[in-house]
Amino acid sequence: MITMGIDIGSTASKCVLLRDGKEIVAQSIIPVGTGTSGPQRAVDAVFGEAGVCRGDIACLAATGYGRNTFEGADMQVSELSCHAKGVFATFPSARTVVDIGGQDAKVIRLSPQGKMMKFLMNDKCAAGTGRFVSVMAKVLDVELEQMGELSEQSVNRVEISSTCTVFAESEVISLLANRVCPADIAAAIHRSVANRVGGLAQRLGVMDEVVMTGGVARNRGVVKALEAELGTRILVSPVAQLNGAYGAALYAYERATGV
Ligand code: ADP
Repeated sequence: MITMGIDIGSTASKCVLLRDGKEIVAQSIIPVGTGTSGPQRAVDAVFGEAGVCRGDIACLAATGYGRNTFEGADMQVSELSCHAKGVFATFPSARTVVDIGGQDAKVIRLSPQGKMMKFLMNDKCAAGTGRFVSVMAKVLDVELEQMGELSEQSVNRVEISSTCTVFAESEVISLLANRVCPADIAAAIHRSVANRVGGLAQRLGVMDEVVMTGGVARNRGVVKALEAELGTRILVSPVAQLNGAYGAALYAYERATGV
């Protein structure tokens, strides 16, 4: 049995095809989100990869910011529930989930049975989100995917004091003008994200194991900075950016099998 999860985010559209509620048989990440061609392209990509069509899908669950505007889903599930579901399936010992996406950050507390107990979210400000890192990577003239590696070469600590993205951008420009090494600036950018999200996590209460999901979890620099901020080890979901879609596909499997 094949089930499908689609996570339509603010900045990326993600799809997962799951066989028998266990094995991921196809996956896609299209770097544009709700209101664009992204969702359809993400669907087409997994259908093409697995050689299946809509009629082969037992149940399709949509999640994410754009879940209600996606036609053709059998069910909609909140992204908080999907992240909880995906993480618990991968790490049953997880009690705290930190999800950093393109335009928001969420911290979720799981019960020992994997149910979402409470959460906190920042969706009011770009600080502490993927958007912050993307804006700063552009100023640094560095590919987003290289930011993690670059920050690991940092030797001197510099600070970015503004949390506001616009002011922080000016600070980065002025650091560059003062010939501060880009690696040190990249590390400061990651610490800024970690500081912001760490504050959210501490308000909720951090309980081990901590698992990170979302596109920003692919950035080792942010993960390490958050580990330092929280003083604890962070496990990164192997499907990081796809975790919401994976959770949705698991919900779809439960619906299809009546479990
Ligand atoms: P959303 O669900 O809000 O659309 P995602 O969880 O898909 O967000 O994450 C999107 C963000 O992930 C992007 O804004 C980008 O900052 C970050 N991202 C994606 N891929 C990478 C990567 N390889 N390295 C670093 N950051 C990444």
